[in-house]
Amino acid sequence: MSAQRDFTVNDALSDVTVVVEGTKLYVHRQYLAEWSGVWRKLFVAECPDDVTSSIEIIIEDKKLDEVLELLHCIYSSQKPTSDSNVDILLDFAEEYDMPSMRNRCEDYLCAQDASIEHLIVAEKFDLKHLYKQCVDFAKTRTLEDLEKDPLCKCVSEKTLTRIYKEKVNMMRDYANDLKQSETKLTRANEQLLDEKEGMAAMLGSIGKIWEMPNKRCYKHMTDDRFDFTCRDCNEKIQREVRRMCSDAQHVRRFFTLNNK
Ligand SMILES: [Zn+2]
Repeated sequence: MSAQRDFTVNDALSDVTVVVEGTKLYVHRQYLAEWSGVWRKLFVAECPDDVTSSIEIIIEDKKLDEVLELLHCIYSSQKPTSDSNVDILLDFAEEYDMPSMRNRCEDYLCAQDASIEHLIVAEKFDLKHLYKQCVDFAKTRTLEDLEKDPLCKCVSEKTLTRIYKEKVNMMRDYANDLKQSETKLTRANEQLLDEKEGMAAMLGSIGKIWEMPNKRCYKHMTDDRFDFTCRDCNEKIQREVRRMCSDAQHVRRFFTLNNK
């Protein structure tokens, strides 16, 4: 990891001094103005004509650690956004009008697992992508889970209503899906019943072919009973059984249905 800049050391190019808790931090207006609309306005107002003169800004409502965290995150070394600094950075982003920092924090949070905690952050800072992602997460949880979660008490009524509404929509879609697959199953079932009847009829008729005179050879067509010793009669019967079996092949569809 590269060494982080020491903002307490003055350098020749520094043109802004930020004073926090009595400590002077030497920074550059170009950097700060690029990130923050509030600072940009301030610099323009402080020295509209002479952009080279140095100015001093005193920040009274922040801690030194917090300001340093922000500076480390926006300077070229760009410390990454993390769980430990994202809240601080979002506070700055709002107070100092820093849209790129706000986007960076939202990107970071969106890449994490959605949670009720993030939903509260999304509401507080109006982070729309994160908000949607977390509402989508919340609607998949059970009502019991949501009611039990103490964090849900920090979620606004408006958002809770939205979660419940989307939950109802989700259940309705689910119910429709179920109805559709039920219809499909009923149809498949009817088809199988038809095939079963066909099979039963065929099996019945296979048993009867030994009694049918026209399934015998021409010499034995007029006999009362099948002559098992006649080679021609047996061959004819075998052909007939094979034909019936190949007709029954379509029943295989039953097995492919089971595999789906
Ligand atoms: Zn015969």
